[in-house]
Amino acid sequence: MRKVIIIGAGLAGCYLATQLQDTCDVTIVTKKSPKDSNSMLAQGGIAASLDPGDSPAEHAADTLTAGQYHNKPAAVNQLVATGPKLIQQLIKAGMAFDRQADGQLDFGLEGAHSHHRVLHANGDRTGAALTSFVQSQLHRVQWQSNTTALALKVQDDVCVGITVRNERTGQLETLTGDAVVLATGGLGNLFPLTTNNQTITGDGIAIAARAGAAISDMAFVQFHPTLLTLHGQCYGLITEAIRGSGAILVDENNHRIMANVAKRDLAPRDVVARHLKAWQQQGHQLFLDISAIPNFTQRFPGVTENLDNHHVPFRTTNRIPIQPGAHFVMGGITTDLSAQTSIPRLFAIGEVACNGVHGANRLASNSLLDCLVSAEKAAEKIQALQPLTIRPTATTNKPAVKPILPTLTDLQDKAWQYLGVVRTRTGLRTFLDWLAQFNYRQLTPEQLSDNELAIANLCLCANLIANAALAEPKSLGAHYIKEPAAKKQVG
Ligand SMILES: Cc1cc2nc3c(=O)[nH]c(=O)nc-3n(C[C@H](O)[C@H](O)[C@H](O)COP(=O)(O)OP(=O)(O)OC[C@H]3O[C@@H](n4cnc5c(N)ncnc54)[C@H](O)[C@@H]3O)c2cc1C
Repeated sequence: MRKVIIIGAGLAGCYLATQLQDTCDVTIVTKKSPKDSNSMLAQGGIAASLDPGDSPAEHAADTLTAGQYHNKPAAVNQLVATGPKLIQQLIKAGMAFDRQADGQLDFGLEGAHSHHRVLHANGDRTGAALTSFVQSQLHRVQWQSNTTALALKVQDDVCVGITVRNERTGQLETLTGDAVVLATGGLGNLFPLTTNNQTITGDGIAIAARAGAAISDMAFVQFHPTLLTLHGQCYGLITEAIRGSGAILVDENNHRIMANVAKRDLAPRDVVARHLKAWQQQGHQLFLDISAIPNFTQRFPGVTENLDNHHVPFRTTNRIPIQPGAHFVMGGITTDLSAQTSIPRLFAIGEVACNGVHGANRLASNSLLDCLVSAEKAAEKIQALQPLTIRPTATTNKPAVKPILPTLTDLQDKAWQYLGVVRTRTGLRTFLDWLAQFNYRQLTPEQLSDNELAIANLCLCANLIANAALAEPKSLGAHYIKEPAAKKQVG
């Protein structure tokens, strides 16, 4: 039986495991518990052109428009063509998406979708409902929870395994397999405010980059305009669907911030995030005014519960305190349409991967769908692999290097200042100069504490973002640069 090691227990990793568990010996390694992932937090929904009036071609067109045509058309076509089939299979297996009174699937409309095509489950708790359902289908996998993946084991340029460390015992172990799959999600915790789960620290991208795998599109990080923010801390996402239902962005004086912008409060996320940041820099506070939404608490039960948990008096004020923050990374480990990376037998799926589907900006509700599609394609490829023969190798103890790293807070503050919603070439260079004083590239992951490792991984990702942003000739999608590119010298 082929042995497959999957790193990450979000939707991508768990869905892949469902596809492989009958034919392969599958181990899922995850940093904390199976509940710790961005997939569990997804609120908005999952897009699929299943409504009779809709079509994969229209879904593809919306995806390409949102991605500013920076997408790989073949990846987009694969997403929109395969996605509906996988959703139907999930429904057949018992996944309960929300339905209308007549029993028909209830398709929601979201920003930049030209059709009602976004499925929800349990209202605004789609990610938790879907990921838990997929996890409930896992019967033949081994779990290694509270275990952090550190570094790839590569023999003759082929990935043969991965070193992991159990958080509780500190024990290091090398897991070998016929395929290793990185499904570790994005890098939201590079920024001081993020919607992401605390385990999401760019690990997969850093692990792959250290082993020399190709990485692409790192300039494109999506910032979400509305993070519930109290005393400078983010306490979760306030879904865009609330603005879709009539909520508006205001300041402390009830001034409507997006009044003079095309599409107003429903302008693209990057446009809204930039306006909010500019307004905030002028000393204003930011709120989402929900007074126009009837039955708010019934329509948004997940958001309501979160607001109540944090004692936000929205029932009396009709306001939710928000700020923009990091949400999603379009770039990542370069893969082909089968999730194969540039290192043989190393695969990447879900948010950690860059198969080109999202282009320069992700269309809302496409990432959960990409988790399913990229996992299904990886499963097909892995099942066709020949078994691997692994040579025994002696472990070499590398000399210890004392880590010189920034504090997480310093790194996050600098990342927000220089890699955030508005960038300048001067700022990107200043950031890289600042980063150059640290030795994150010389460090051996096995020799670092969990905290040092997370910081080193985020430094590596920050370096990739800054360099990719400098290499972009102009603003595109989520990458916004203020200064023009320097003119090329002639002669
Ligand atoms: C608040 C929020 C709302 C969202 N809403 C939507 C939405 O409505 N629709 C949509 O399509 N998308 C949405 N997204 C984006 C979407 O949820 C994610 O892109 C997607 O779930 C990523 O899935 P994944 O399986 O690739 O990674 P994740 O779900 O992030 O899972 C990554 C897993 O890897 C583990 N891990 C990380 N590093 C290591 C390591 N070194 N060793 C071991 N394990 C590790 C993590 O703990 C986690 O279990 C939302 C995201 C957030 C944060």
